[in-house]
Amino acid sequence: MRSNLVVAIDGYSSCGKSTLAKALAKHLGFIYIDSGAMYRAVTLYFIRNHIDIADQAAVEDALQHIELNFHSRDYQSHILLNGEEVSEEIRQMPVSEAVSEVSAIKAVRHDMVKQQQRMGRSKNIVMDGRDIGTAVFKDAQVKLFMTADPKIRAERRYKELAAKGDETITLEDVFENLAHRDFADTTRKESPLVRAEDAIILDNTDLTEAQQLQFAIEKIIPFLENTKH
Ligand code: C5P
Repeated sequence: MRSNLVVAIDGYSSCGKSTLAKALAKHLGFIYIDSGAMYRAVTLYFIRNHIDIADQAAVEDALQHIELNFHSRDYQSHILLNGEEVSEEIRQMPVSEAVSEVSAIKAVRHDMVKQQQRMGRSKNIVMDGRDIGTAVFKDAQVKLFMTADPKIRAERRYKELAAKGDETITLEDVFENLAHRDFADTTRKESPLVRAEDAIILDNTDLTEAQQLQFAIEKIIPFLENTKH
C-alpha cells in the first residue's frame, strides 16, 4: 500500500482534465503532473528532427536524446524539452495533429510511463492523462474519468486557442482534431483510453469549474487522513 496519495484523472481530449487537476493540486498542496504535455513534447522533438515514426530504431535513438523536466509556477505546469520551455508550442495544431500517432508507439509509452511512475513514487500528486488509472498508477487511491459533450469540448478548446491569438484555426478544425484524437486514443493497441473499473465518472458538460472541484474534493477527503502531508 502506498503512503503517498495519487489522484489519477483520465478522459477524452479537452474535457477540462488539466483545469480540474491544477485546481485540485492547488487546493490540496499536491504536485500537478500533466502527462499529455510529455507526449506533446516528444512529438515536438520528432517533428523538429524529422523522425520517421515508422522507423523503430530512429524512434528509440531519438528517445535517448530527449530530456523532459517540469517546473511549476503558480500551479501552472511548464515543460522543458532539453532545457527549452515549450509549453506554448506543444499546444499548437502541428503537435495536436501528430501527438496521437506518436503516443501510440510502444517505446514512447514505455519511456513516458517509467518517468511518470518515478515522479509519483513518494509525493502526493494529481496526474492527468489517458492511462493514469489503468496503467501508470493502477493503485491510485482516487481515479476520476472525465467526459463531456464533444461540441462543448470543441467550443472550449477553440475559445482557448482563439484567446491566445491563433486566427488561422476554425471551430471545425478543433472539432475534427478532438474526434480524431479520441478515436486514435481509444482504439490504439498500447494502453488505450478506457475507464478503469474503479474510476468515478465525472461528466462536466453542465458543471462549473467550482462544482467539479467540489465533486472531486469530496471523493478525495476520505483518503487524506491516511496520507502523510
Ligand atoms: O492531455 P493532452 O490532450 O494534452 O494529450 C495529448 C495527447 O497525448 C492525447 O491525445 C494522447 O494521444 C496522448 N496521451 C496519452 N497518454 C497520456 C496522456 C496523453 O496517450 N497519459
